[in-house]
Amino acid sequence: MPKIIIEKDRCKGCFLCISFCPKKVIQLCRDLNKKGFHFAEYKGVGCIGCLSCAIICPDVCIEVYK
Ligand code: SF4
Ligand code: SF4
Repeated sequence: MPKIIIEKDRCKGCFLCISFCPKKVIQLCRDLNKKGFHFAEYKGVGCIGCLSCAIICPDVCIEVYK
């Protein structure tokens, strides 16, 4: 089962990965990271390993594991 790991403290909560995920399995966390941003988090299931989120993230926060 593919999954993603998001480096939360590099995330600036720009929403791009959330918008581009075809399975809608990324959400913005209510908590804040070290920079004071709501960060993206994986919902835990449903990733198909398409790489869209990792490619679109301007801060290279996401790694995809297949
Ligand atoms: S790899 Fe694709 S399906 Fe998985 S979280 Fe990223 S955009 Fe969504
Ligand atoms: S695209 Fe990158 S910086 Fe933007 S919300 Fe997603 S993980 Fe965070």
